[in-house]
Amino acid sequence: MDKVIVITGGSRGIGAATALLAAQQGYRICINYLTDEPAALRVLEQVRGLGAVAIAIRADVSIEDEVIRLFNRVDAELGPVTALVNNAGTVGQKSRLDEMSEFRILKTLKTNTLGPILCAKHAVRRMSPRHGGQGGNIVNVSSAAARLGSPNEYVDYAASKGALDTFTLGLSKELAGEGIRVNAVRPGYIYTEFHALSGDADRVSKLESAIPMGRGGRAEEVAEAIVWLLSDKASYATGTFIDLAGGR
Ligand code: NAP
Repeated sequence: MDKVIVITGGSRGIGAATALLAAQQGYRICINYLTDEPAALRVLEQVRGLGAVAIAIRADVSIEDEVIRLFNRVDAELGPVTALVNNAGTVGQKSRLDEMSEFRILKTLKTNTLGPILCAKHAVRRMSPRHGGQGGNIVNVSSAAARLGSPNEYVDYAASKGALDTFTLGLSKELAGEGIRVNAVRPGYIYTEFHALSGDADRVSKLESAIPMGRGGRAEEVAEAIVWLLSDKASYATGTFIDLAGGR
């Protein structure tokens, strides 16, 4: 069976690093993105350079019609998905709860919680033997924030990832008898462009002294754990969380 991976938010950071590793492991790859087409096309060129069959698809993971179109195109151009990495995520400007707008809170919850749930729904419709599938793997990219709560920064983001953790647990049990494993990674401070969204592009280097290992993480270090969880080497792991936070 061909290995077909959908990586949401694959145009940058942790998603892009995961796409490059997946390319080296023989996956056919769908790189999803929201706005930055040139970045997605750069990753596409890199994974094709490694010999992978790959496509890039723009879709907002928080809108079900767009998710449906995404998976239909993957069916037609790569074959049915066997691995889903729910990586797309967003965060608002650093602030207290009493200063957050409803729009910002909804965007955070829709992107980080609803999006992975919708993508998992449409992946399961292809993976589950109940729908004629042959099993598969899902990895949700959560955050250390789910454990720590992110007070005075973005409690809405932390809550969106906490809900994702609960979803990971429940879905892993729901699908354990159907050959579908569901796991999560919880990165800490990782050097990506993500932190510019919260208003401080240099956030990770400024916070390094608060990290027990004394440094921020690299996207590739998170991607390694994601790809391991997707692999047969992790064949007895489901409902599992790998913390990649340098000891935080
Ligand atoms: P990033 O560099 O900002 O990349 C985010 C990706 O998500 C981009 O490809 C972006 O696409 C895409 N995206 C955002 N909203 C989307 C939507 N509604 N639909 C589809 N794609 C969407 O972030 P990153 O640091 O690699 O983070 C990846 C994941 O790791 C996120 O879930 C984040 O919460 C989590 N995480 C990151 C850190 C960290 O320190 N970096 C720590 C803990 C957890 P466009 O560029 O096209 O807009």
